[in-house]
Amino acid sequence: MLKVENLTKMFGGLAAVNNISVEFEANKINAIIGPNGAGKSTFFNLISGAHKPTSGRILIDGTDVSTMRCDNIARLGVGRTFQTTTLFEQATVLDNLIVGHRLRTKSGLWDVLINSRRLRREEKESRDKAAEVLDFVGLSHLGNHFIADITQEQRKRVAFALALATDPKLLLLDEPAAGVNPDETEGLAELMNKMIRHGLTVCLIEHKMDMIMGMADKIMVLDHGEKIAEGTPAEIKSNPVVIEAYLGS
Ligand code: ADP
Ligand code: MG
Repeated sequence: MLKVENLTKMFGGLAAVNNISVEFEANKINAIIGPNGAGKSTFFNLISGAHKPTSGRILIDGTDVSTMRCDNIARLGVGRTFQTTTLFEQATVLDNLIVGHRLRTKSGLWDVLINSRRLRREEKESRDKAAEVLDFVGLSHLGNHFIADITQEQRKRVAFALALATDPKLLLLDEPAAGVNPDETEGLAELMNKMIRHGLTVCLIEHKMDMIMGMADKIMVLDHGEKIAEGTPAEIKSNPVVIEAYLGS
């Protein structure tokens, strides 16, 4: 599903991502771990097209997206969440999703002016999609609550819903469980498993090691921009290079 070949991203003299090659299989949970500054978010920014590689290639289902614009990569089926998601605090959960969907899919102003029927149809599509993804993430009962009034874990679910609204086949989740307590982390892990059951491919960056070890099919370990290991949770746990560089202590 995702194939990366010799991917490098330089920021000035710094190789934030340094010659990484890796393959992630479809319909699996793939995790990326590594210390702060290892290049994890930069890796996501390259896959989603927010940054362009200095060198190397990124293939999604065989299509080379290395030089593609991020909206075209999104259209190919790559969705993402960010380390911190900005939501409209004084708007309802449902309105956040409707606006989010409109921003990602709406036609230009000119289309709207000359075709009000199209506008109404698109509004209905956004409303229906918002209700659908809200149900998927288990927040139907909170549609009319203000963002300011919901919990941190519920905000994470809204961020998932925003990403799901564009119908991705590959979902990039940047630290989806950061800032939520252990009980709630389990709920988010279950939601990711549900995505897999519905045919999605998940790629996540996460610091919560017990969560990753319990749910990932494959783990890639980054350090200083380089891939230092990859394998199943059992392989990673017993890899001396990883223990030395990262898990050590
Ligand atoms: P991680 O997500 O693993 O914590 P990042 O990918 O955010 O790491 O960062 C990797 C390295 O690249 C860090 O040294 C960071 O300072 C640097 N970096 C990230 N984004 C930029 C940028 N837009 N411009 C310059 N340097 C950056
Ligand atoms: Mg990061």
